[in-house]
Amino acid sequence: MNIAVVGLSHRTAPVEVREKLSISDEHIEDSFNALKANDQVLEVSILSTCNRLEIYALVKEQESGVSAIKEFLINHSGLNNDDLFPHLFTFNQTEAVNHLMRVAGGLDSLVLGEGQILSQVKKMVRLGQDHQSIGPIFNRLLTQAVSTGKRVRSETNLGTGAVSISSAAVELAQLKLGQSQGKDELMSLESEDVAVVGAGRMSRLLLQHLQSKGCSTLTLLNRTLNRAETLAADFPGLNVKCKLLDSLDDCLQLSSLIFTSTASETPIIDADRLSKFQRTNVLRLIDIGVPRNIAADVSKVPGYESHDVDDLQEVVTRNQDARQQIALEAESLIEEEAKNFLEWWASLEAVPTINRLRSGLEAIRKEELQKALSRMGPDFSARERKVVEALSKGIINKILHTPVTNLRAPQPSAQRKDSLKIVEALFDLGVSEED
Ligand code: NAP
Repeated sequence: MNIAVVGLSHRTAPVEVREKLSISDEHIEDSFNALKANDQVLEVSILSTCNRLEIYALVKEQESGVSAIKEFLINHSGLNNDDLFPHLFTFNQTEAVNHLMRVAGGLDSLVLGEGQILSQVKKMVRLGQDHQSIGPIFNRLLTQAVSTGKRVRSETNLGTGAVSISSAAVELAQLKLGQSQGKDELMSLESEDVAVVGAGRMSRLLLQHLQSKGCSTLTLLNRTLNRAETLAADFPGLNVKCKLLDSLDDCLQLSSLIFTSTASETPIIDADRLSKFQRTNVLRLIDIGVPRNIAADVSKVPGYESHDVDDLQEVVTRNQDARQQIALEAESLIEEEAKNFLEWWASLEAVPTINRLRSGLEAIRKEELQKALSRMGPDFSARERKVVEALSKGIINKILHTPVTNLRAPQPSAQRKDSLKIVEALFDLGVSEED
């Protein structure tokens, strides 16, 4: 058995490829079923975010398991091998475990240390459990990834500064405003006519950052008005006009800055929609949706300036140096957590022998207890029987404790194998069918 991850991320693929791979909540069950249908795949989990799609699997055999995942990705994306494979990365075993811990810690994120990825890793655990696609090994692996993410945020300074894709999007708007005035600096958004499309988690963060960057009034559009109103109510200091998505054309005509962050699977703004307006000033569109909410063809329409999630790299790069330094603090913590998991996994090698040893001793215990109890006859009360039974169990557990701990302790595999052989020979454990 081996652990493998096959996937792609903002580091290996542009948004136009990533959006074809993204797996929405409605398609997650089909995806699990397709992956589990391959007998190479023993346990599997899916991490689908705006910046990555990663399939983690416990596979019977490395090469065939990885091929099975790639075949799934080809079928799911509709891309051919030449268009997809150059964007994929594959990590095995130690590297796969390390990668997962880095992802959970936010060290592989576009915005270093951003917090949303940890919620997405938690969601990956929940989905795996709900769809019964993960078993004991991945339960342990993913749970440990979540606790690693928490440790990175509580024990290092990486999580400070409330960074997110949304904060980077607001910074990009500030930077582009500055650049449009010939200044390479972040400008206040107070004089901008701002609209936000979508009222989910990312829009909430957008509102937070917009408010902190000088914006005092904005229009919030959503498919469901009620959700926009609920979100607006959490920002009493902001003057938020809530509208249905039907009012989008008004905003496209009148606003100077629009952020889009909906989970729509198809673009909600395209060149056709924009071409009908005669704008006198430039409308800046910043889309953090993946799949994109704004079609690529809008770049051809004069009077609009459009940016997608990959364009956030420009602001991220400006802030990266200081954060890279802090990220170093987290790397040793990540290594420690990955090592802990791999040691736990290696220790499972001892489990079949320990189980047989335990069953052998349990059989002796029961047999000897039975003999002793029958010798005592009816004079022995039920309470006394219980005490003797507990005593016999306690002795077995105490005797087993040290050898079991030693057999499962971190050690080179060859050393553990030698110890297991000795135990098997001394206790005449033989080889069971499950081995
Ligand atoms: P979310 O909390 O689930 O909110 C989804 C939003 O999209 C809601 O406002 C929903 O409207 C709207 N929506 C869903 N389907 C729609 C459709 N067909 N047409 C119009 N509106 C629709 O999602 P989120 O986490 O904020 O993510 C929003 C987008 O940002 C996604 O594309 C995501 O990939 C991207 N993104 C997310 C993260 C992250 O960390 N979560 C980071 C970067 C980018 P209703 O209220 O009417 O349902």
